[in-house]
Amino acid sequence: MDRKSFRKYGYAIVDWIADYMDHIEEYPVLAQVEPGEIADRLPKRPPVEPEEMEAIFNDFKGILLPGMTHWQHPSFFAYFPANNREPSILAELLTAALGAQCMVWQTSPAATELEEVVMEWLRQILGLPVGFTGVIQDTASTSTLCALLCARERATSFAVNEHGFRNGSSQSLIVYTSEEAHSSVEKGVKIAGFGKDNLRLIPSGVDFAMIPEELEQAINADKKDGHVPCCVVATVGTTSSTAMDPLRPIGEICDHHGVWLHVDAAMAGTAAMLPEMRYILDGIEFADSFVFNPHKWMFTNFDCSAYFCKDPKALTSTFEILPEYLKTDTDRQVKNFRDWGIPLGRRFRALKLWFVIRSFGIKGLQEKVRAHIELAKEFESLIREDTQFEVTAPVTINLVCFRYHPSHRNFSEEELEQINKDLMDELNRSGKMFITHTKLKGKFTLRLSIGQTNTTREHVQKAWDQIRASVSHL
Ligand code: PLP
Repeated sequence: MDRKSFRKYGYAIVDWIADYMDHIEEYPVLAQVEPGEIADRLPKRPPVEPEEMEAIFNDFKGILLPGMTHWQHPSFFAYFPANNREPSILAELLTAALGAQCMVWQTSPAATELEEVVMEWLRQILGLPVGFTGVIQDTASTSTLCALLCARERATSFAVNEHGFRNGSSQSLIVYTSEEAHSSVEKGVKIAGFGKDNLRLIPSGVDFAMIPEELEQAINADKKDGHVPCCVVATVGTTSSTAMDPLRPIGEICDHHGVWLHVDAAMAGTAAMLPEMRYILDGIEFADSFVFNPHKWMFTNFDCSAYFCKDPKALTSTFEILPEYLKTDTDRQVKNFRDWGIPLGRRFRALKLWFVIRSFGIKGLQEKVRAHIELAKEFESLIREDTQFEVTAPVTINLVCFRYHPSHRNFSEEELEQINKDLMDELNRSGKMFITHTKLKGKFTLRLSIGQTNTTREHVQKAWDQIRASVSHL
């Protein structure tokens, strides 16, 4: 592609993106395609001759776009959000243009230093303890894996790094998390070599939050059996229901037993930027590590996961490698973020955070997040006022768990599951909104999660009207 064509298509694509944003509500939120449909429309063999950008871009619009689920649609209420905003997109464009691989300070000093600066800004924005140091990882799954690896090494004085796990040892390293924790904890436990048998799922209460007394009992029982309690992963805002594990009592237990505390606040952490919500991190000073994803609810496009730790030495001692070809003269003076995580190569992710934080300002970020929380409260009220529905979990921030369950009809759990599943499928097939489900203590429940950048009261009201219209024939 010559520079002239680059400009031509660069302008055309930016124009297309702006139009896409303007007209996003005309697309079905959930892709309305069958498995295999998109692949069937693509050539089975790569092109031998170069193709025109015109043709490539047309195929993007004509073939791929119908197979996209539109996460930036304001009626996207599924999973948790992965929202973005124009400044973040522009920064990504610049990141791609610079094409820098930011593994060490020397490979782009500005990338390293900006990352230090924006992570310190984020620490302040969330009110994390002074002294916590941040690094950007790709996802919360990676961040939690990093925490588990650090915990493993601290508990074994770096013996696993040096010698590996000793097969057949009766003394196991144990990880604790709530039965409501995200699957990334189990995945991390498997990858880090703890073994699934050594993951204890601590019961949760009626609010779906971890019961600290149960944690304490489990730790004591393991100690009695000669095992080594190694790491507790507490969740601030569980995936199913945004339940809040109580950090203070959990932190005190970890402190007492010398166990690493990692806090997974992947989505909900963003709420701590509001002074009135900061209580969700009460006790955070006990944490050894903490993760939240600006790529979920902070208008910074995927991927961008903010990992903070109390003692960066734990990270660097776990991950440090120093082959000759990576040595630089500044190694003693600077941070080389390659030693702060798993991959060597690193994208310049700090740039989009910098663009987002500067263009919103703290006030702008707070306004959006506060509005989403308010909308969730309003949706909860609509559900509570209608005797055909029930709220199935405490609404702690921006997620409402609910289901159709008319108080005057005697449905079995199986029937309720089927009815609610059918309801969800019908809503999603309409293309007008997208919600997902979960099970809470075995009960099938619908989830309406509010966090897309441009969701307004009107979108939530429309969703509610559509839900009610769908159940009117039941
Ligand atoms: N932790 C929690 C509580 C989550 O809800 C999620 C995803 O929704 C994750 C971790 C995993 O996030 P990621 O996709 O960044 O790995």
